[in-house]
Amino acid sequence: RPDEVVGSAWAELSRGRFEAGTFALHRLEDELARIGPADVIYREDDVRFTPDTTAPWAWTPRPAWSFAEDSSREVLCKQFSVHNLEGFGFEADDVPALRAAGAVLTYLQETQRGELDHFRSLTAHHRSGFLQIDAATRRSLEITRTLRSGSREGSLLGVIDLTCTPMGSRLLADWIAAPLIDRQSIDDRLDAVQELLADPSLRADVRSTLKQTFDLTRLLARIATGRTGPRDLQQVARTLEGLPKLKSKLEGRSPARLAWIESHLHPCPQLRDQLNSALADECPVVAADGNFIREGYDSELDQLRQLARGGKEWIAAYQKRQMDETGIPNLKVGYNKVFGYYLEVTNSHRDKVPQEFIRKQTLKNCERFITPELKEYEEKVLAADEKAQSREQLLFQQLRAATHGHLSTLQEVAVAIAELDVLVSLAEIAAQRNWVRPELNDESVLRIDAGRHPVLDVTLPQGEFVPNDCVQSPEAGMILLITGPNMSGKSTYIRQVALITLLAQAGSYVPAEAAEIGIADRIFARVGASDELSRGQSTFMVEMVETARILNTATSRSLVILDEIGRGTSTYDGLSLAWAITEHLHEQIGCRTLFATHYHELTQLEESLPRVANWNVADKEWNDEVVFLHRIVRGGADKSYGIHVARLAGIPPSVNERAKDV
Ligand code: ADP
Repeated sequence: RPDEVVGSAWAELSRGRFEAGTFALHRLEDELARIGPADVIYREDDVRFTPDTTAPWAWTPRPAWSFAEDSSREVLCKQFSVHNLEGFGFEADDVPALRAAGAVLTYLQETQRGELDHFRSLTAHHRSGFLQIDAATRRSLEITRTLRSGSREGSLLGVIDLTCTPMGSRLLADWIAAPLIDRQSIDDRLDAVQELLADPSLRADVRSTLKQTFDLTRLLARIATGRTGPRDLQQVARTLEGLPKLKSKLEGRSPARLAWIESHLHPCPQLRDQLNSALADECPVVAADGNFIREGYDSELDQLRQLARGGKEWIAAYQKRQMDETGIPNLKVGYNKVFGYYLEVTNSHRDKVPQEFIRKQTLKNCERFITPELKEYEEKVLAADEKAQSREQLLFQQLRAATHGHLSTLQEVAVAIAELDVLVSLAEIAAQRNWVRPELNDESVLRIDAGRHPVLDVTLPQGEFVPNDCVQSPEAGMILLITGPNMSGKSTYIRQVALITLLAQAGSYVPAEAAEIGIADRIFARVGASDELSRGQSTFMVEMVETARILNTATSRSLVILDEIGRGTSTYDGLSLAWAITEHLHEQIGCRTLFATHYHELTQLEESLPRVANWNVADKEWNDEVVFLHRIVRGGADKSYGIHVARLAGIPPSVNERAKDV
């Protein structure tokens, strides 16, 4: 049923991030694509869906009781130490979300043996605050990974990520995966980027400080789960050390986001000083390795250590005395685990060994002895050593507890660092690539001057990418039909318009000379179905399923990108469908649409539909060769270039000539 809902909740263990929402069941796939989980649990008796085993995550069925409302509320309230969950912003009809959250938490408690202390709240995920991008669109636009190899490199995120910390990198991925639709929130981000862009030395200073910070989020997760070591605590201290500098750089800046960040970079001076005075310059990863508490921090530890060291000095003196008394010049004191300290005498001096030496071991060239005096000192040394070690472990527990006590404050710091990192990264890419601040409004318009594809602009050799304009408005045309031959740049162009819109709504500058962007509520991209073949559906069926989804869910505020509709069926079927779909988009939906097609017959629609505008890719014929200029110009193409492309592909000339005749 179209009104059927599903509750879903997702947790990120390393970050302690925990969100839940109630969605229409048919949106589940898109939500999963946005979140990109590693593991998915579901109610074992839920018959409404079957796990898609080709998905890149593991599915684990869970018992129905763990999804029950009562037990979910109870486990959540207990985790957050609250009496009810209303404060987290859940609505009365959000029960499915809470049940899912309870199930996730129960699962984590069972599988993660450590504590889950860093899970301090549950965020209500209201989809309505975000630009909606379905799973197919995400794939086609190559937002976080490429279609071909699935790698991050070559994707939009791969190109724009100039963050300095893993926290920033993760948050940037979130921003790109879920751009905003509220103009004020977008402008708040852009204001901050603008300020950081205008001040290169501020940017450089902030970046160099950020590079010295550690992954606070991960560190806090380890501290919360009790899996922490001295080096982790030291990294917390070093991260705190950079904060006063960052704060001073941001002080008095007017953009609201920068002011917010400044006020959340709590330097926690007490904790920082405590950690710094306690921890040695070089700290081991695990506490059991010992020797990480600085001399002078704890007098009891210092005394024990001195005693241990003093005992060792005594042994050295003892060795010297025994040498003199026995006249054995190479007598030495050794140590092993089996019988502790011993005296070793080589066979050549065996006759000089005095009565009171007690023989313990005979080796090939020597014998080993102990004496009561030696044993007595040995006990002292070992006892002191042992006590020093347990004292050090106790001190470590205290430091860990002190840090744990700052957990929520430090989590705020981590969030602020991440956001600062993302904003600086956006300013940096804008500076490096000469991007502009987009102007956002709530109209149904799109005006891009000399726009560039954000990825190709970076990957093609400097100056090779040909910029293109785009104008969409009720006057200039809401549906742009772009005709032109294969390989002329149609897909690149329509994707670039979608990506520029997406970047702008994420709060980023955009690759263009100027851009005016009416905020879109959804972006749909139906682009080449070749990648769907592996998913076991016929290409044409997939194409139609996606197109149906667009026609059923796009609104007048959406941006729709269509690349070649109807290619997977016969020419007349395909052309007829493309024709009817264009009419529907024009008459019923009225959204901004870019439709790239090789059906040049469609250009006739411009005559009957007032808001359709024809554009095509300029080319020039030169020495009987067609050269694509990759420039999008007004007007429709009047011919197909199939035969030309066939020649480029190496079809024998005789076949080409014959094709021309036919
Ligand atoms: P089509 O969709 O028309 O078949 P594509 O968009 O796939 O064409 O582009 C074909 C090739 O042309 C791309 O691989 C790209 O390298 C190049 N190209 C496309 N647009 C431009 C441009 N504006 N400037 C420079 N090269 C471009």
